[in-house]
Amino acid sequence: MVAQVVSPLHSTTDPTYQTALRQYDRAVAYLSNLPDGLIEFMKWPRRELSVNFPVRMDDGQVHVFTGYRVHHNTVLGPSKGGIRYSSHVNLDEVRALAMWMSWKCALVNLPYGGAKGGVVVDPYKLSETELANLTRRFTSEIILLIGPKIDIPAPDMGTNAQTMAWMMDTYSMTVGYSVPAVVTGKPLNIGGSLGREEATGRGVIVCMLEALRQLEMVRSPRDISVVVQGFGNVGVHAANRAHALGFKVIAVSDVTGGYYNPKGLDIPAMKLYTARNRTLSGYTGDAEKITNAELLELPCDVLLPCALEGQLTGQNAAKIKAKLVVEGANGPTTPEADDILRDRGITVVPDILANAGGVTVSYFEWVQGLQEYFWDEDEVYRRLERILVRAYDEVVTTSEKFNVDMRTAAQITAINRVAQATLTRGFYP
Ligand code: NAD
Repeated sequence: MVAQVVSPLHSTTDPTYQTALRQYDRAVAYLSNLPDGLIEFMKWPRRELSVNFPVRMDDGQVHVFTGYRVHHNTVLGPSKGGIRYSSHVNLDEVRALAMWMSWKCALVNLPYGGAKGGVVVDPYKLSETELANLTRRFTSEIILLIGPKIDIPAPDMGTNAQTMAWMMDTYSMTVGYSVPAVVTGKPLNIGGSLGREEATGRGVIVCMLEALRQLEMVRSPRDISVVVQGFGNVGVHAANRAHALGFKVIAVSDVTGGYYNPKGLDIPAMKLYTARNRTLSGYTGDAEKITNAELLELPCDVLLPCALEGQLTGQNAAKIKAKLVVEGANGPTTPEADDILRDRGITVVPDILANAGGVTVSYFEWVQGLQEYFWDEDEVYRRLERILVRAYDEVVTTSEKFNVDMRTAAQITAINRVAQATLTRGFYP
């Protein structure tokens, strides 16, 4: 019997959630042997928590903030997913990101379900003390949903290792003893993993190298031009790794705009500049200032969207000149853009594969925390590369089997893993 879900989710107007749901519908169309009720079950979040909570600001006023934590699917294990601080956060966006986490963890064979959380706040407008107070109170509000065996948060847009340190401390103070494994992406001196900060960007470049090989674009790295949108955690480390391997990174951008030099940018200098100034604004190195829209349409070999959702759309996909797109961000490409890029012969390595390096090293951090035994950086990177290359090969095999693009292939592979695990476990009671 088909489960009847009477839910407002059916009528979402949020473009990110619409993208996630449409991708799901596309992929499950190839899994026609699965029961209809199972397909319906995997589509919706398992549980959701919305919280409104007060924070005392530096001027003595109390502000009320809204936050969310969503567990999408927990069949494969405890749920895992980032915490986002942004003024654009909304429940549907968090639902979409939680769903992608379920597929991402399944795709790289991690024993995790998918989750996501967020607070509606512009973190750059808060002082350090206000951010600490907000994070501690939010952690306390969602504490009944998190824990090292329940749900393990990590950084995402607008949050970082310090945010995770405050979350870990708040959780530990509540239970009465230190619990490093309750979050990942922590600072090293409280149980973080070597390589975690760089992991997502590094994984993007592992996938880029695999794709270049597959597409037989095996020229010298110096002859391959790379454009990176977003210069935060993912973008900085992707650009830096590409630069270190000798690729010509010709443009990067952040929310304040882009910088272009067809001969190649000085990425280490730009990395240092943002570390000191938070953004690229005011950077005066050898580069022409361009907009984010112009950056996406630059002539280049590889485009790495590493900022946010909905960047490659039905409006600009026909103007994209890259031959290869590797998605560092979650959901940067809409289904309309996917169709246009595929028809134009542009390969897109999808988010749930290309940015899975972050959650993979988060998994390593969690394992190290539980065992209280820490690995060296070489070990982290060696294992990371092995997992990503294997997942990449599996996606290629599935795409050939079903004659579909890499996104649909990645989702078919991941969703089928969650489906088979659900069928093996059976439906409780
Ligand atoms: P971040 O906050 O560290 O950086 C985001 C970057 O994007 C910043 O440079 C910001 O200025 C830029 N940006 C914001 N709005 C922009 C706009 N309109 N145009 C251009 N640039 C803009 O965030 P992050 O952790 O690097 O995450 C970036 C993306 O990668 C998100 O989609 C996130 O969900 C995804 N992701 C992050 C991780 C991780 O480990 N941090 C893992 C997997 C996926």
